[in-house]
Amino acid sequence: MALIERDAVLGGNALTVCCKAVEGECQLCGGCLLPDQIDEVRRSDLVEVWTQTTVTRVTRENGGFLLRLRNGSGADMSLSADALVLATGFDHVDARTKGPYGYGILPQVITGQDMEKRLCDEGQAAYDGLGLKKVAFIQCVGSRDEHAGRGYCSQVCCRYALRLARLLKSRLPEVEIALFKMDLQHAGRDMAAAWRAISSMEGVRVVAGLPAVIRRSTENPKRVTFFYNDILADDLAQERAPGTKQEDFDLVVLSVGMQPRADAGRVAELFGVNRDAYGFFSTRDQEGVSTILPGVFVAGSCQAPRSMSEAVAHARQAAEACYRYLQEKGS
Ligand code: SF4
Ligand code: SF4
Repeated sequence: MALIERDAVLGGNALTVCCKAVEGECQLCGGCLLPDQIDEVRRSDLVEVWTQTTVTRVTRENGGFLLRLRNGSGADMSLSADALVLATGFDHVDARTKGPYGYGILPQVITGQDMEKRLCDEGQAAYDGLGLKKVAFIQCVGSRDEHAGRGYCSQVCCRYALRLARLLKSRLPEVEIALFKMDLQHAGRDMAAAWRAISSMEGVRVVAGLPAVIRRSTENPKRVTFFYNDILADDLAQERAPGTKQEDFDLVVLSVGMQPRADAGRVAELFGVNRDAYGFFSTRDQEGVSTILPGVFVAGSCQAPRSMSEAVAHARQAAEACYRYLQEKGS
């Protein structure tokens, strides 16, 4: 079995997932799944790992596939395979595409991935001692937005925002946290209970309303400010239009969603698989692992947004489907 990876190391986006255990209590973020999985692959005599290698051509050969590969030094090689599993991953939505939120211009506006990466690099104390008093998390940045071609829920960003908020609150009990979400819908799997849990934490608010624009605060240029309407606010209960509120924050964390990799179209063409309306690889079975091309399977978030543990489970299903295919084929 050969594992072909275009980067120099295995892991992809999962490399930036930090541990969010709160005072030793695991938050089940899946961050520690990666080293275990990589260790297993490295230890296995059955898997050959080719890093810094890309597939440049795929042709059918004797009922299987012949891959042309190019490695980091520009050398071309060939590899025959009876079946293929595509696990090409996803891209985070670029927060700059949500221009009015000021990402890349306002230093107080960061993404959930920026926060994860800083926590990975500097440890859980990364945000201690910065004098943070008010932090906002903004949900659905780049997801559930048909105008941007991403009408789907990215599934993971509510969960990572809630875990990051809980971690931050445990490190900085005095900080006020507000999570701004789109509406009352508990989009994403198993979210209702998680929202209830976070709303019951002292010093954490959930606001049903998103800002349109984030600006530098005129009161305090070290902070940012925005207007929002909270559709859950008391005004609504009193049958009045929800009032517009304005608040300043020291830090705003954008919960950016997931999208197909920028080269997903080229990869689909190379392997002869289809893509769905949003650009993820399409499948024809209930498990979402078999493509229209017999012998080509997909695993993980190249097929749909998934968390780490869901991606691992999906990869297992893909491996099982691939194994059944090879058995039926007599390979
Ligand atoms: S699942 Fe996440 S929070 Fe739990 S130990 Fe692993 S990395 Fe830490
Ligand atoms: S998981 Fe939450 S933040 Fe992400 S797209 Fe779905 S509802 Fe929005």
